[in-house]
Amino acid sequence: MHVEYATKRLLPLVAICAVVSAPLQAAEVRVVATTSDVAAVFQRVGGERVEVTTLAKGYMDPHYLQAKPSYIVSLRRADILAYNGLQLEIGWLPLILQGARNNKINLGQPGHVPMSVRLDILEIPIGEVSRAQGDVHPEGNPHYTLDPRNLIEMASTAEAALVRVDPEGGSIYAGNRAAFVTQLQEQIPIWERKLAPYRGRPIVCYHKQWEYLLNWLELVPIDYVENRPGIPPSPRHVEELERRMREQGVPILLSSTFIDSDQLERLSEKTGAKLLVLPAAVGAEEELDEPVAFFAHLVEELAAAFADGSSD
Ligand SMILES: [Zn+2]
Repeated sequence: MHVEYATKRLLPLVAICAVVSAPLQAAEVRVVATTSDVAAVFQRVGGERVEVTTLAKGYMDPHYLQAKPSYIVSLRRADILAYNGLQLEIGWLPLILQGARNNKINLGQPGHVPMSVRLDILEIPIGEVSRAQGDVHPEGNPHYTLDPRNLIEMASTAEAALVRVDPEGGSIYAGNRAAFVTQLQEQIPIWERKLAPYRGRPIVCYHKQWEYLLNWLELVPIDYVENRPGIPPSPRHVEELERRMREQGVPILLSSTFIDSDQLERLSEKTGAKLLVLPAAVGAEEELDEPVAFFAHLVEELAAAFADGSSD
């Protein structure tokens, strides 16, 4: 077929172009990010000077990542390990970090970068946390990347880390960070205005992972399907929830793309709440591989779901 022939003919040309346009040297800094959100911030601030590897891709659940040997290989070569922290990765990161034997990224070293510093953390538990309460995050709710204002602080953390390991890139990192932050600062008020009409509305969520988003937009999570984080809910809890959702006319039932939704569809049907399944991280859907597009999508979807609900 001539299509195939054309492809073959083009290949050598493409290869030559790639050689000509490739940067003269490899990236200055190798960053391994545990989540796609952290990776996206480093990519924006580091630009072409960094090579970013993401461990938990946006469509994977970062609570329960299956550690692969390739992760250890990535960590072994890394100049920076940037992670979410607040124990989100506690089930898998310590093991691979130990396996990598790379002192540059060990705790206390310049390349060891928890991204939660500088941020106001929600839901830090008071008193002792026991396993019976489910998978409660004892250092507070770790899903802070779902508030775009936090990305501004995270960009500063990323810049500081990059400058520590690659001081020569300082002015480039500062410029990239400023451009990213300006873009966020322009968009955030637009997003806020879009959802302002729905402030104070109740929402029921599946997992306790949307607090930062809802807190930012002044929406009210009244309850969770998963009443103990990480543990499937009891039928009794779901029944009770169903009753409350009907009573309060909850317009939206919010879940994320990595959660199985059969049960949620039933609950939505019984209560009239619209089931809204949103990506919970940058890159969960292919075209949302960048934070600004990602938040624009969340805001559009929420606004559409509310508008839909109020026109019924
Ligand atoms: Zn969680």
